[in-house]
Amino acid sequence: MENCLFCRIIKGEIPSTKVYEDEHVYAFKDINPATPVHVLVVPKVHIDSIEALNDNNIENTTHIHRAIKKVAEITGINKDGYRVIINCGKDGGQTVFHLHYHVLGGTKLTEKII
Ligand code: AMP
Ligand code: ZN
Repeated sequence: MENCLFCRIIKGEIPSTKVYEDEHVYAFKDINPATPVHVLVVPKVHIDSIEALNDNNIENTTHIHRAIKKVAEITGINKDGYRVIINCGKDGGQTVFHLHYHVLGGTKLTEKII
């Protein structure tokens, strides 16, 4: 999508620090990390949010989950563990409307809301 920040990052129009990439998925460092390791994992095709998933694009979630495991291994957080967060919509606190999974780790996460 033309004016989507993450589509522009995927195309290389806006610089990012790549952590992992494959045919379906791009993973890069969050510009404002909340934890020592904070990586965003996004589908290469534009999907607004979880709410925009449907039978035609749902397979991207499998690709994303596979990539999350790779990212955890690459960044070395696979052993001690990590948290994955997806914000959806206004009440979920989503600010960039291209589906993205936050992968957070490198420290013990103490703030527990669930
Ligand atoms: P959310 O609030 O769940 O929509 O997450 C959006 C995330 O994108 C935030 O954690 C931002 O820090 C991150 N972000 C915004 N712009 C960039 C950028 N140019 N490169 C990397 N991460 C970004
Ligand atoms: Zn997009």
